[in-house]
Amino acid sequence: MNILEELKNQVKNSNNIVFFGGAGVSTSSGIPDFRSATGLYNQKNKSNFSPEYMLSHEFFEKYPKDFMKYIKENLIYENVKPNAAHIGLSKLEKLGKLKGIITQNIDSLHQIAGSKNVVELHGNLRDFYCVNCGRNYSFDDVKKLDYTIECSECKGIIRPDVVLYGENLKEYNINKAVKLISEADILIVGGTSLKVYPAASFLKYYKGDKLVLINAERTDYDNMANYVFHEDIGEIISYLSDI
Ligand SMILES: [Zn+2]
Repeated sequence: MNILEELKNQVKNSNNIVFFGGAGVSTSSGIPDFRSATGLYNQKNKSNFSPEYMLSHEFFEKYPKDFMKYIKENLIYENVKPNAAHIGLSKLEKLGKLKGIITQNIDSLHQIAGSKNVVELHGNLRDFYCVNCGRNYSFDDVKKLDYTIECSECKGIIRPDVVLYGENLKEYNINKAVKLISEADILIVGGTSLKVYPAASFLKYYKGDKLVLINAERTDYDNMANYVFHEDIGEIISYLSDI
């Protein structure tokens, strides 16, 4: 039996699988990975600022209009569809096998695929709010307002509910993620190089003996894992969820 079949048997026997994912989960949906060769960080941009700076708390505070323009032009992808990885994970949840998804992505593709229990560590681009009065705005509201940054109630500044560089992850998201991981039977980590904080720091909470890593390239944690696949994540997840 090859290791993929062996893992599929583990999946069949488990009702407590947790998935932890990064940018590589969404690349085949057409959303670029920030840090890969073709990713956002290596694309030329018109300003002299680095993408990292333009997605920082400081840049948002100083230049809220340019910040929103940057978000609109570079991070909002309309009409993108979930791929085989999102769809397979949603299926595993419906089958009562997958307890939850922890994602570093802000594209909401897991929810679009039908997943319910999703911890968005870095927030999302569906929800916006006024930093002054707290009024919530949906993506559609913001789009209708042509991405204006002014709150219609109080003229405060509207921002997306994403975690910017220089901001902390939300405590309740960290707690939910730690709980899911520490109680998981099978932990599948996919589409992340595990190089960027805080991804790697979450792995230490896993107590089981079925750690699965699926990533196009090797990671520093491959040796720690019980199952390692350097293959297309959509194909692996599809196969595992076909039960
Ligand atoms: Zn307001």
